[in-house]
Amino acid sequence: MQFPVRQRRLIANPKTELYVHFLQFYGQPPLENISLSEFETFAVDRLKLLKTVENSGVSQVKGSEPYQKKLDKEFSNLNFPNKPDIKEEDKDGPNEYEKRRKDHISHFILRLAYCQTEDLRRWFIQQEVDLFRHRFNRLTSVQKSSFLKHNNLHYETVGLVEKTALTDKLVQSSYAGSGSKVDTQDYYKVPFQDALDLVRNRKAYLKAGYVYIPQQDIVITVLNDFRTQLSKALALTARSLPTVLSDERLQPLLSHLSHAYVGQDYSIQKNMGKISLEQIDPLSGKSFPLCMRGLHQALRENHHLRHGGRMQYGLFLKGIGLTLEQALQFWRSEFTKGKVDMDKFDKQYAYSIRHNFGKEGKRTDYTPYSCLKVILSNAPSQGDHHGCPFRHSDAELLKQKLQSYKVSPSGIAQILDLVKGMHYQLACQKYFELTHNIEDSGFSLNHPNQYFLESQRVLGGGGKEAKAEPPQRAPDVAAKPPLDPPALAEMAEDLDAYFQDG
Ligand code: SF4
Repeated sequence: MQFPVRQRRLIANPKTELYVHFLQFYGQPPLENISLSEFETFAVDRLKLLKTVENSGVSQVKGSEPYQKKLDKEFSNLNFPNKPDIKEEDKDGPNEYEKRRKDHISHFILRLAYCQTEDLRRWFIQQEVDLFRHRFNRLTSVQKSSFLKHNNLHYETVGLVEKTALTDKLVQSSYAGSGSKVDTQDYYKVPFQDALDLVRNRKAYLKAGYVYIPQQDIVITVLNDFRTQLSKALALTARSLPTVLSDERLQPLLSHLSHAYVGQDYSIQKNMGKISLEQIDPLSGKSFPLCMRGLHQALRENHHLRHGGRMQYGLFLKGIGLTLEQALQFWRSEFTKGKVDMDKFDKQYAYSIRHNFGKEGKRTDYTPYSCLKVILSNAPSQGDHHGCPFRHSDAELLKQKLQSYKVSPSGIAQILDLVKGMHYQLACQKYFELTHNIEDSGFSLNHPNQYFLESQRVLGGGGKEAKAEPPQRAPDVAAKPPLDPPALAEMAEDLDAYFQDG
Protein backbone atom coordinates (compact mmCIF):
# COMPACT_ATOMS: atom_id res chain seq x y z
CA MET A 1 0.00 0.00 0.00
CA GLN A 2 1.51 3.27 -1.16
CA PHE A 3 -0.96 5.61 0.47
CA PRO A 4 0.32 5.71 4.10
CA VAL A 5 3.88 6.22 2.88
CA ARG A 6 2.87 9.18 0.71
CA GLN A 7 0.81 10.70 3.49
CA ARG A 8 3.75 10.59 5.90
CA ARG A 9 5.95 12.32 3.34
CA LEU A 10 3.36 15.08 2.77
CA ILE A 11 2.89 15.82 6.43
CA ALA A 12 6.63 16.06 6.87
CA ASN A 13 6.91 18.59 4.04
CA PRO A 14 6.29 22.14 5.28
CA LYS A 15 5.89 23.46 1.72
CA THR A 16 2.99 21.14 1.04
CA GLU A 17 1.42 21.88 4.38
CA LEU A 18 1.55 25.60 3.71
CA TYR A 19 -0.21 25.44 0.35
CA VAL A 20 -2.48 22.42 0.41
CA HIS A 21 -4.91 23.95 -2.11
CA PHE A 22 -4.33 26.01 -5.21
CA LEU A 23 -6.94 28.38 -3.78
CA GLN A 24 -6.32 30.25 -0.55
CA PHE A 25 -8.38 32.11 2.01
CA TYR A 26 -5.31 34.18 2.91
CA GLY A 27 -5.84 33.74 6.62
CA GLN A 28 -2.14 33.83 7.52
CA PRO A 29 0.34 36.39 6.24
CA PRO A 30 3.60 35.12 4.77
CA LEU A 31 6.40 34.93 7.32
CA GLU A 32 9.44 34.43 5.14
CA ASN A 33 11.97 37.04 3.95
CA ILE A 34 11.73 38.08 0.33
CA SER A 35 13.90 40.29 -1.82
CA LEU A 36 12.64 43.66 -2.99
CA SER A 37 12.87 42.55 -6.61
CA GLU A 38 10.51 39.68 -5.83
CA PHE A 39 8.30 42.06 -3.87
CA GLU A 40 7.96 44.31 -6.90
CA THR A 41 7.55 41.53 -9.46
CA PHE A 42 4.87 39.77 -7.44
CA ALA A 43 2.95 42.96 -6.80
CA VAL A 44 3.01 44.15 -10.41
CA ASP A 45 1.98 40.70 -11.69
CA ARG A 46 -0.95 40.52 -9.31
CA LEU A 47 -2.04 43.98 -10.35
CA LYS A 48 -2.01 42.80 -13.96
CA LEU A 49 -4.07 39.79 -12.99
CA LEU A 50 -6.61 41.91 -11.12
CA LYS A 51 -6.86 44.31 -14.05
CA THR A 52 -7.64 41.37 -16.32
CA VAL A 53 -10.27 40.21 -13.84
CA GLU A 54 -11.84 43.67 -13.93
CA ASN A 55 -11.76 43.98 -17.72
CA SER A 56 -13.04 40.47 -18.34
CA GLY A 57 -15.85 40.93 -15.83
CA VAL A 58 -17.23 43.85 -17.79
CA SER A 59 -16.58 42.75 -21.35
CA GLN A 60 -17.81 39.15 -20.77
CA VAL A 61 -20.48 37.50 -18.67
CA LYS A 62 -18.80 36.39 -15.44
CA GLY A 63 -18.40 32.63 -15.37
CA SER A 64 -19.02 32.26 -19.13
CA GLU A 65 -16.59 30.28 -21.27
CA PRO A 66 -14.89 33.31 -22.89
CA TYR A 67 -14.51 34.88 -19.42
CA GLN A 68 -12.91 31.75 -18.03
CA LYS A 69 -10.64 31.36 -21.04
CA LYS A 70 -9.40 34.92 -20.75
CA LEU A 71 -8.63 34.50 -17.07
CA ASP A 72 -7.01 31.10 -17.54
CA LYS A 73 -4.70 32.54 -20.16
CA GLU A 74 -3.64 35.34 -17.83
CA PHE A 75 -3.11 32.92 -14.93
CA SER A 76 -0.78 30.90 -17.07
CA ASN A 77 1.03 33.95 -18.55
CA LEU A 78 1.69 35.39 -15.13
CA ASN A 79 2.37 32.09 -13.37
CA PHE A 80 -0.43 32.08 -10.85
CA PRO A 81 -1.91 28.75 -9.76
CA ASN A 82 -5.04 27.76 -11.61
CA LYS A 83 -5.14 23.98 -11.60
CA PRO A 84 -7.00 22.39 -8.71
CA ASP A 85 -6.21 18.86 -9.72
CA ILE A 86 -2.43 18.75 -9.62
CA LYS A 87 -1.22 15.26 -8.83
CA GLU A 88 -0.26 14.86 -5.21
CA GLU A 89 3.32 14.07 -6.05
CA ASP A 90 3.63 17.27 -8.13
CA LYS A 91 2.33 19.59 -5.46
CA ASP A 92 5.67 20.29 -3.90
CA GLY A 93 7.44 20.56 -7.25
CA PRO A 94 9.08 23.93 -7.69
CA ASN A 95 6.58 25.21 -10.24
CA GLU A 96 3.36 24.62 -8.41
CA TYR A 97 4.85 25.54 -5.04
CA GLU A 98 6.31 28.75 -6.48
CA LYS A 99 2.99 29.67 -8.06
CA ARG A 100 1.11 29.17 -4.81
CA ARG A 101 3.75 31.06 -2.89
CA LYS A 102 3.52 33.93 -5.38
CA ASP A 103 -0.25 33.95 -5.07
CA HIS A 104 -0.01 34.13 -1.29
CA ILE A 105 2.69 36.77 -1.02
CA SER A 106 1.40 39.00 -3.83
CA HIS A 107 -2.05 39.12 -2.25
CA PHE A 108 -0.61 40.40 1.02
CA ILE A 109 1.61 42.98 -0.72
CA LEU A 110 -1.38 44.46 -2.48
CA ARG A 111 -3.28 44.51 0.79
CA LEU A 112 -0.62 46.91 2.04
CA ALA A 113 -0.87 49.07 -1.05
CA TYR A 114 -4.64 48.97 -1.42
CA CYS A 115 -5.78 49.46 2.16
CA GLN A 116 -5.13 53.18 2.12
CA THR A 117 -8.40 54.67 0.87
CA GLU A 118 -12.01 53.63 0.54
CA ASP A 119 -11.81 53.68 -3.27
CA LEU A 120 -8.72 51.48 -3.33
CA ARG A 121 -10.17 49.04 -0.82
CA ARG A 122 -13.42 48.72 -2.73
CA TRP A 123 -11.65 48.06 -6.02
CA PHE A 124 -9.25 45.55 -4.49
CA ILE A 125 -11.98 43.60 -2.68
CA GLN A 126 -14.15 43.41 -5.79
CA GLN A 127 -11.38 42.02 -7.97
CA GLU A 128 -10.15 39.59 -5.31
CA VAL A 129 -13.69 38.30 -4.77
CA ASP A 130 -14.14 37.72 -8.52
CA LEU A 131 -10.78 36.01 -8.68
CA PHE A 132 -11.70 33.79 -5.75
CA ARG A 133 -15.06 32.89 -7.33
CA HIS A 134 -13.43 31.91 -10.59
CA ARG A 135 -11.05 29.54 -8.85
CA PHE A 136 -13.52 28.16 -6.31
CA ASN A 137 -15.88 27.19 -9.13
CA ARG A 138 -13.14 25.05 -10.64
CA LEU A 139 -12.98 22.80 -7.59
CA THR A 140 -14.77 19.48 -7.63
CA SER A 141 -17.29 18.82 -4.94
CA VAL A 142 -14.78 16.78 -2.91
CA GLN A 143 -12.16 19.49 -3.28
CA LYS A 144 -14.67 22.11 -2.14
CA SER A 145 -15.41 20.16 1.02
CA SER A 146 -11.72 19.68 1.66
CA PHE A 147 -11.02 23.40 1.07
CA LEU A 148 -13.81 24.46 3.45
CA LYS A 149 -12.58 22.08 6.12
CA HIS A 150 -8.99 23.15 5.71
CA ASN A 151 -9.98 26.79 6.19
CA ASN A 152 -12.18 26.14 9.20
CA LEU A 153 -15.33 27.08 7.32
CA HIS A 154 -17.49 24.64 9.18
CA TYR A 155 -20.81 24.77 7.46
CA GLU A 156 -22.94 22.04 8.93
CA THR A 157 -23.71 19.26 6.45
CA VAL A 158 -27.32 18.14 6.41
CA GLY A 159 -27.55 14.49 7.50
CA LEU A 160 -29.06 11.82 5.28
CA VAL A 161 -32.19 11.38 7.43
CA GLU A 162 -32.98 15.08 7.50
CA LYS A 163 -32.21 15.47 3.78
CA THR A 164 -34.55 12.62 2.88
CA ALA A 165 -37.30 14.07 5.04
CA LEU A 166 -36.91 17.46 3.37
CA THR A 167 -36.44 16.25 -0.22
CA ASP A 168 -39.68 17.78 -1.53
CA LYS A 169 -38.96 21.16 0.04
CA LEU A 170 -35.38 21.14 -1.22
CA VAL A 171 -36.49 20.32 -4.77
CA GLN A 172 -39.15 23.04 -4.75
CA SER A 173 -36.83 25.66 -3.38
CA SER A 174 -34.06 25.26 -5.91
CA TYR A 175 -34.19 26.37 -9.55
CA ALA A 176 -32.80 23.26 -11.18
CA GLY A 177 -33.57 20.84 -8.43
CA SER A 178 -34.82 17.29 -8.77
CA GLY A 179 -35.11 14.38 -6.40
CA SER A 180 -32.06 12.66 -7.82
CA LYS A 181 -29.97 15.83 -7.52
CA VAL A 182 -30.91 16.17 -3.89
CA ASP A 183 -29.85 12.59 -3.33
CA THR A 184 -26.47 12.99 -4.95
CA GLN A 185 -25.22 16.29 -3.62
CA ASP A 186 -24.38 17.59 -0.18
CA TYR A 187 -26.52 20.25 1.46
CA TYR A 188 -25.26 22.71 4.04
CA LYS A 189 -27.19 24.28 6.88
CA VAL A 190 -26.13 27.90 7.32
CA PRO A 191 -27.56 30.63 9.60
CA PHE A 192 -29.76 32.76 7.35
CA GLN A 193 -27.79 35.96 8.02
CA ASP A 194 -24.78 34.35 6.33
CA ALA A 195 -26.70 33.66 3.14
CA LEU A 196 -28.80 36.75 2.66
CA ASP A 197 -28.34 36.77 -1.12
CA LEU A 198 -29.89 33.33 -1.41
CA VAL A 199 -32.73 34.24 0.95
CA ARG A 200 -33.39 37.52 -0.86
CA ASN A 201 -33.55 35.73 -4.22
CA ARG A 202 -35.58 32.85 -2.75
CA LYS A 203 -32.99 30.40 -4.02
CA ALA A 204 -32.80 28.16 -0.98
CA TYR A 205 -35.02 26.49 1.59
CA LEU A 206 -35.30 28.42 4.85
CA LYS A 207 -36.34 26.74 8.09
CA ALA A 208 -36.03 27.81 11.73
CA GLY A 209 -33.40 30.44 10.96
CA TYR A 210 -31.26 28.13 8.82
CA VAL A 211 -30.86 28.10 5.07
CA TYR A 212 -30.35 24.76 3.33
CA ILE A 213 -27.82 25.35 0.58
CA PRO A 214 -26.93 22.84 -2.14
CA GLN A 215 -23.21 22.52 -2.62
CA GLN A 216 -23.37 24.16 -6.06
CA ASP A 217 -24.55 27.37 -4.36
CA ILE A 218 -22.28 27.31 -1.33
CA VAL A 219 -19.92 29.59 -3.26
CA ILE A 220 -22.24 32.51 -2.44
CA THR A 221 -21.80 31.99 1.28
CA VAL A 222 -18.08 31.33 0.98
CA LEU A 223 -17.70 34.55 -1.01
CA ASN A 224 -19.58 36.48 1.64
CA ASP A 225 -17.16 35.14 4.24
CA PHE A 226 -14.21 35.93 2.04
CA ARG A 227 -15.41 39.49 1.38
CA THR A 228 -16.11 40.13 5.07
CA GLN A 229 -12.75 38.78 6.18
CA LEU A 230 -10.87 40.70 3.54
CA SER A 231 -12.68 43.90 4.36
CA LYS A 232 -11.84 43.53 8.06
CA ALA A 233 -8.26 42.60 7.24
CA LEU A 234 -7.83 45.70 5.07
CA ALA A 235 -9.16 47.92 7.86
CA LEU A 236 -6.67 46.34 10.26
CA THR A 237 -3.86 46.66 7.74
CA ALA A 238 -4.67 50.35 7.27
CA ARG A 239 -4.27 50.84 11.02
CA SER A 240 -0.84 49.27 11.08
CA LEU A 241 0.27 50.94 7.87
CA PRO A 242 2.14 53.83 9.54
CA THR A 243 4.43 51.27 11.21
CA VAL A 244 4.99 49.45 7.93
CA LEU A 245 5.64 52.71 6.10
CA SER A 246 8.22 53.72 8.67
CA ASP A 247 10.43 51.07 7.06
CA GLU A 248 12.31 53.15 4.56
CA ARG A 249 12.76 50.19 2.24
CA LEU A 250 9.03 49.65 1.84
CA GLN A 251 7.69 53.17 1.94
CA PRO A 252 8.62 54.22 -1.63
CA LEU A 253 7.52 50.89 -3.05
CA LEU A 254 4.13 50.88 -1.39
CA SER A 255 3.40 54.52 -1.97
CA HIS A 256 3.74 53.93 -5.70
CA LEU A 257 2.15 50.54 -6.00
CA SER A 258 -1.38 51.76 -5.49
CA HIS A 259 -0.90 54.19 -8.37
CA ALA A 260 1.32 51.96 -10.40
CA TYR A 261 0.56 51.63 -14.04
CA VAL A 262 0.94 48.15 -15.37
CA GLY A 263 2.24 48.41 -18.89
CA GLN A 264 4.57 50.35 -21.12
CA ASP A 265 6.89 52.97 -19.69
CA TYR A 266 5.96 56.09 -21.64
CA SER A 267 9.04 57.98 -20.51
CA ILE A 268 10.81 56.18 -23.35
CA GLN A 269 9.78 58.39 -26.24
CA LYS A 270 10.37 56.98 -29.66
CA ASN A 271 8.46 59.81 -31.26
CA MET A 272 10.38 62.61 -29.60
CA GLY A 273 10.34 65.61 -31.92
CA LYS A 274 8.05 63.96 -34.47
CA ILE A 275 5.04 66.10 -33.56
CA SER A 276 4.81 69.73 -34.58
CA LEU A 277 2.97 72.35 -32.53
CA GLU A 278 0.52 72.90 -35.39
CA GLN A 279 -0.57 69.24 -35.15
CA ILE A 280 -1.73 69.51 -31.54
CA ASP A 281 -5.12 71.10 -32.28
CA PRO A 282 -6.24 68.51 -34.86
CA LEU A 283 -4.75 65.65 -32.83
CA SER A 284 -6.60 66.72 -29.70
CA GLY A 285 -9.93 66.18 -31.49
CA LYS A 286 -8.97 62.89 -33.13
CA SER A 287 -6.55 61.06 -30.88
CA PHE A 288 -6.54 62.55 -27.37
CA PRO A 289 -8.49 60.76 -24.65
CA LEU A 290 -11.25 62.74 -23.01
CA CYS A 291 -9.07 63.88 -20.10
CA MET A 292 -6.46 65.42 -22.39
CA ARG A 293 -8.97 66.77 -24.86
CA GLY A 294 -10.65 68.60 -21.98
CA LEU A 295 -7.35 69.97 -20.71
CA HIS A 296 -6.37 71.16 -24.18
CA GLN A 297 -9.71 72.87 -24.65
CA ALA A 298 -9.51 74.54 -21.22
CA LEU A 299 -6.01 75.76 -21.98
CA ARG A 300 -7.05 77.24 -25.31
CA GLU A 301 -10.09 78.92 -23.75
CA ASN A 302 -8.53 80.24 -20.53
CA HIS A 303 -4.89 80.59 -21.60
CA HIS A 304 -4.02 79.07 -18.27
CA LEU A 305 -4.09 75.76 -16.41
CA ARG A 306 -3.53 75.24 -12.71
CA HIS A 307 -0.69 73.08 -11.42
CA GLY A 308 -2.53 69.71 -11.56
CA GLY A 309 -3.58 70.36 -15.16
CA ARG A 310 -0.14 71.55 -16.24
CA MET A 311 1.46 68.41 -14.80
CA GLN A 312 -1.06 65.97 -16.26
CA TYR A 313 -1.25 67.58 -19.69
CA GLY A 314 2.41 68.65 -19.89
CA LEU A 315 3.67 65.13 -19.23
CA PHE A 316 1.16 63.67 -21.69
CA LEU A 317 2.42 66.04 -24.42
CA LYS A 318 5.96 65.10 -23.57
CA GLY A 319 4.94 61.43 -23.91
CA ILE A 320 3.49 61.93 -27.40
CA GLY A 321 6.74 63.46 -28.55
CA LEU A 322 7.04 67.18 -27.71
CA THR A 323 10.64 68.23 -27.08
CA LEU A 324 11.57 70.57 -24.24
CA GLU A 325 11.96 73.49 -26.65
CA GLN A 326 8.55 72.79 -28.21
CA ALA A 327 6.95 72.47 -24.79
CA LEU A 328 8.38 75.82 -23.65
CA GLN A 329 7.16 77.46 -26.84
CA PHE A 330 3.72 75.85 -26.59
CA TRP A 331 3.05 76.85 -22.98
CA ARG A 332 4.61 80.28 -23.35
CA SER A 333 2.57 81.21 -26.40
CA GLU A 334 -0.67 80.10 -24.74
CA PHE A 335 -0.06 81.61 -21.29
CA THR A 336 1.07 84.96 -22.68
CA LYS A 337 -2.21 85.29 -24.54
CA GLY A 338 -3.81 85.58 -21.08
CA LYS A 339 -2.76 87.39 -17.93
CA VAL A 340 0.84 86.12 -17.81
CA ASP A 341 3.59 88.19 -19.44
CA MET A 342 6.85 86.78 -20.84
CA ASP A 343 8.83 87.72 -17.78
CA LYS A 344 6.39 86.12 -15.35
CA PHE A 345 6.20 83.00 -17.52
CA ASP A 346 9.97 82.58 -17.56
CA LYS A 347 10.23 83.10 -13.79
CA GLN A 348 7.21 81.15 -12.65
CA TYR A 349 6.38 78.45 -15.19
CA ALA A 350 9.40 77.69 -17.37
CA TYR A 351 11.26 76.14 -14.42
CA SER A 352 8.62 73.46 -13.84
CA ILE A 353 8.51 72.58 -17.55
CA ARG A 354 12.28 72.11 -17.57
CA HIS A 355 11.88 70.19 -14.29
CA ASN A 356 9.46 67.74 -15.94
CA PHE A 357 12.04 67.07 -18.61
CA GLY A 358 14.67 66.32 -15.97
CA LYS A 359 16.63 69.53 -16.54
CA GLU A 360 16.16 71.00 -13.06
CA GLY A 361 16.08 69.85 -9.43
CA LYS A 362 16.60 66.11 -8.95
CA ARG A 363 16.98 65.83 -12.74
CA THR A 364 14.42 63.07 -12.89
CA ASP A 365 12.91 62.48 -16.30
CA TYR A 366 9.25 62.45 -15.27
CA THR A 367 6.87 59.87 -16.71
CA PRO A 368 3.40 60.70 -18.06
CA TYR A 369 0.61 59.80 -15.65
CA SER A 370 -1.18 56.48 -15.98
CA CYS A 371 -4.97 56.20 -15.84
CA LEU A 372 -4.78 54.71 -12.35
CA LYS A 373 -2.80 57.65 -11.12
CA VAL A 374 -5.15 60.17 -12.74
CA ILE A 375 -8.20 58.35 -11.44
CA LEU A 376 -7.03 57.67 -7.91
CA SER A 377 -4.96 60.65 -6.88
CA ASN A 378 -5.35 64.39 -6.55
CA ALA A 379 -9.05 64.75 -7.37
CA PRO A 380 -9.78 68.10 -9.09
CA SER A 381 -11.53 70.86 -7.19
CA GLN A 382 -13.34 73.99 -8.37
CA GLY A 383 -11.38 75.67 -11.19
CA ASP A 384 -9.26 72.59 -11.92
CA HIS A 385 -9.42 70.80 -15.25
CA HIS A 386 -7.23 67.80 -14.51
CA GLY A 387 -8.43 64.31 -13.48
CA CYS A 388 -10.40 61.72 -15.40
CA PRO A 389 -13.77 62.95 -16.70
CA PHE A 390 -15.21 59.46 -16.36
CA ARG A 391 -14.26 59.40 -12.67
CA HIS A 392 -14.47 63.02 -11.64
CA SER A 393 -17.25 64.58 -13.76
CA ASP A 394 -20.83 64.69 -12.74
CA ALA A 395 -22.94 62.32 -14.93
CA GLU A 396 -24.92 65.19 -16.47
CA LEU A 397 -21.79 67.16 -17.32
CA LEU A 398 -20.18 64.08 -18.82
CA LYS A 399 -23.28 63.46 -20.90
CA GLN A 400 -23.20 67.03 -22.22
CA LYS A 401 -19.53 66.76 -23.04
CA LEU A 402 -20.06 63.50 -24.93
CA GLN A 403 -23.01 65.01 -26.80
CA SER A 404 -20.85 67.95 -27.82
CA TYR A 405 -18.30 65.47 -29.17
CA LYS A 406 -21.03 63.87 -31.27
CA VAL A 407 -21.20 60.55 -29.44
CA SER A 408 -24.49 58.79 -30.25
CA PRO A 409 -27.23 58.61 -27.59
CA SER A 410 -26.91 54.81 -27.35
CA GLY A 411 -23.13 55.15 -27.02
CA ILE A 412 -23.58 57.72 -24.26
CA ALA A 413 -25.95 55.36 -22.46
CA GLN A 414 -23.37 52.54 -22.62
CA ILE A 415 -20.63 54.83 -21.35
CA LEU A 416 -22.77 56.11 -18.48
CA ASP A 417 -23.61 52.53 -17.52
CA LEU A 418 -19.93 51.67 -17.27
CA VAL A 419 -19.26 54.82 -15.26
CA LYS A 420 -22.10 53.90 -12.92
CA GLY A 421 -20.40 50.55 -12.33
CA MET A 422 -17.14 52.45 -11.62
CA HIS A 423 -15.44 50.98 -14.73
CA TYR A 424 -13.86 54.26 -15.74
CA GLN A 425 -11.16 52.90 -18.03
CA LEU A 426 -13.66 50.66 -19.77
CA ALA A 427 -15.92 53.66 -20.26
CA CYS A 428 -12.96 55.44 -21.84
CA GLN A 429 -12.30 52.41 -24.02
CA LYS A 430 -15.91 52.45 -25.15
CA TYR A 431 -15.49 56.16 -25.99
CA PHE A 432 -12.43 55.15 -28.05
CA GLU A 433 -14.43 52.52 -29.96
CA LEU A 434 -17.31 54.88 -30.62
CA THR A 435 -15.15 57.78 -31.78
CA HIS A 436 -12.96 55.53 -33.93
CA ASN A 437 -15.90 53.64 -35.30
CA ILE A 438 -14.60 50.18 -34.39
CA GLU A 439 -16.36 47.37 -32.56
CA ASP A 440 -13.54 46.12 -30.41
CA SER A 441 -10.54 48.25 -29.56
CA GLY A 442 -8.54 45.05 -28.91
CA PHE A 443 -6.46 46.53 -26.11
CA SER A 444 -6.84 47.04 -22.41
CA LEU A 445 -6.57 50.74 -21.63
CA ASN A 446 -4.18 51.71 -18.87
CA HIS A 447 -2.67 54.97 -19.96
CA PRO A 448 -3.66 58.18 -21.77
CA ASN A 449 -0.54 57.88 -23.93
CA GLN A 450 -1.52 54.33 -24.82
CA TYR A 451 -4.88 55.73 -25.95
CA PHE A 452 -3.05 58.20 -28.16
CA LEU A 453 -0.77 55.58 -29.71
CA GLU A 454 -3.63 53.16 -30.33
CA SER A 455 -5.66 55.94 -31.89
CA GLN A 456 -2.81 56.85 -34.21
CA ARG A 457 -2.45 53.21 -35.14
CA VAL A 458 -6.15 52.86 -35.95
CA LEU A 459 -6.17 56.13 -37.91
CA GLY A 460 -3.01 55.14 -39.71
CA GLY A 461 -0.94 57.98 -38.29
CA GLY A 462 1.36 56.01 -36.05
CA GLY A 463 2.25 52.96 -38.10
CA LYS A 464 3.92 50.00 -36.46
CA GLU A 465 6.34 52.13 -34.50
CA ALA A 466 3.55 53.59 -32.41
CA LYS A 467 2.05 50.24 -31.40
CA ALA A 468 2.12 49.73 -27.64
CA GLU A 469 4.96 47.54 -26.49
CA PRO A 470 5.00 44.77 -23.91
CA PRO A 471 5.30 45.84 -20.27
CA GLN A 472 8.74 46.92 -19.18
CA ARG A 473 10.35 46.24 -15.86
CA ALA A 474 12.11 48.64 -13.60
CA PRO A 475 15.70 48.84 -14.79
CA ASP A 476 18.29 46.75 -12.97
CA VAL A 477 15.88 45.61 -10.27
CA ALA A 478 16.34 41.90 -10.86
CA ALA A 479 20.11 42.25 -10.94
CA LYS A 480 20.47 43.68 -7.45
CA PRO A 481 21.25 41.50 -4.43
CA PRO A 482 18.44 40.98 -1.91
CA LEU A 483 18.23 42.79 1.41
CA ASP A 484 21.46 44.70 1.20
CA PRO A 485 20.62 48.16 2.58
CA PRO A 486 22.60 50.32 0.12
CA ALA A 487 21.36 48.25 -2.81
CA LEU A 488 17.82 48.49 -1.46
CA ALA A 489 18.01 52.25 -1.25
CA GLU A 490 19.24 52.36 -4.83
CA MET A 491 16.54 49.97 -5.94
CA ALA A 492 13.87 52.05 -4.23
CA GLU A 493 15.13 55.04 -6.21
CA ASP A 494 14.92 53.04 -9.43
CA LEU A 495 11.37 52.09 -8.60
CA ASP A 496 10.61 55.64 -7.63
CA ALA A 497 11.69 56.75 -11.08
CA TYR A 498 9.88 53.81 -12.68
CA PHE A 499 6.54 54.43 -11.06
CA GLN A 500 7.11 58.17 -11.02
CA ASP A 501 4.40 60.22 -9.49
CA GLY A 502 5.87 63.58 -10.39
S1 SF4 B 1 -9.58 56.55 -18.44
FE1 SF4 B 1 -7.46 57.24 -18.59
S2 SF4 B 1 -7.22 58.03 -20.65
FE2 SF4 B 1 -9.40 57.83 -20.30
S3 SF4 B 1 -10.04 59.84 -19.62
FE3 SF4 B 1 -9.60 58.65 -17.77
S4 SF4 B 1 -7.47 59.05 -17.29
FE4 SF4 B 1 -7.83 59.75 -19.39
